[in-house]
Amino acid sequence: MITPTPNAAGQQARTLFFQPGERNIFFHLLTSCNLRCRHCYINPAQHGSGMVSRREMEQWLELFAAPAQESNLILLGGEPTLHPNLVHGVRRARELGYRGVTIDTNGYLHHNLLARLAPDEAVLSFSLDGPTPAVNDPIRGDGVFATCTANLRQAVAAGFDVSLIFTASRLNIDHLAQMPALLEQLGCRRFFIQVIGIRGKSAQPGKPDGAPPDNRPENDSTLQLSPEQWLEIVPQVAADAAARGIRVIYPKVYLEDGEPFQCAGRQEQSYFIFPNGRVYLCPLCEDFPLHTWQIEDGRLRPNPGLTERQLFTLEIAEGCVMNKLLQPGNIVYDAPGRPRHRISCCLLKQEMRPV
Ligand code: SF4
Ligand code: SF4
Repeated sequence: MITPTPNAAGQQARTLFFQPGERNIFFHLLTSCNLRCRHCYINPAQHGSGMVSRREMEQWLELFAAPAQESNLILLGGEPTLHPNLVHGVRRARELGYRGVTIDTNGYLHHNLLARLAPDEAVLSFSLDGPTPAVNDPIRGDGVFATCTANLRQAVAAGFDVSLIFTASRLNIDHLAQMPALLEQLGCRRFFIQVIGIRGKSAQPGKPDGAPPDNRPENDSTLQLSPEQWLEIVPQVAADAAARGIRVIYPKVYLEDGEPFQCAGRQEQSYFIFPNGRVYLCPLCEDFPLHTWQIEDGRLRPNPGLTERQLFTLEIAEGCVMNKLLQPGNIVYDAPGRPRHRISCCLLKQEMRPV
């Protein structure tokens, strides 16, 4: 049984169940990046190494615009600030009626972004995987902590709405507790904790446990958190952050008894678009050619053959089908063979608001 953890003021995290009409469009403008993170989720064999042109960016934004609905646009990559037409894309999206535009950046803010974008045009979301260079830089690269935090401070000073994304893995989970104090110092009032996904580099065969350090990526057994690590550490850190006035969002991961299972893919509310034209409904499918649509000549065409949509229809006791297929080691069974935890949709979030 999973017990929700209250914070110091007795507050419990609230589950943000999917709301009808709410849409999230994750638009990967390019796959290239100036960094080489150890857990990078980009898979060039599946997503290519290209970049959408200015014209494609406009066309594809038009394709997914739905002004009557609450459509949130997240521009990402690779590193989206490397795209020379990023600011144009933000402005075109706002003209098309997207409600909120967020840029997910590694913090380098290429093309002098802060000088070219007004603070009310987009939210800037910075990725940082540790509270110090000693924790962050072995994961994201030498000097990344200093650059990312300096640019985040500049964005706050310029009046931008900022958030920080921390990808929790076995490489940094022991340091998550120091993140709320860092956010407070940086003036960042929104904190997203995400769990490492087994895709991209993290899904490649890596060096076995106990092997001497080398340049190969860690394999999934060395990066993924155990249920105990997630459940014991993350809610407590979220409670600490909320007590400091920071809003925290983190994945549900394990459903509590009686909570309904929801698959975002079935509801078709989130779209993951890649520069090679693939459009997925589930991010866990991104390492496979299971995408629902392909964009061709500015139109959405159904991908023939087996797609993620067929997988979404499967009802299993473990909850999420893709977790069962890709990360079966995460699921623990009791003696009669029932799963001890149902795994929630990876897009289902919990929120802890400032006390
Ligand atoms: S910043 Fe993002 S896209 Fe770039 S290497 Fe890191 S995870 Fe990959
Ligand atoms: S993560 Fe699981 S539950 Fe969520 S969309 Fe994918 S298959 Fe459905």
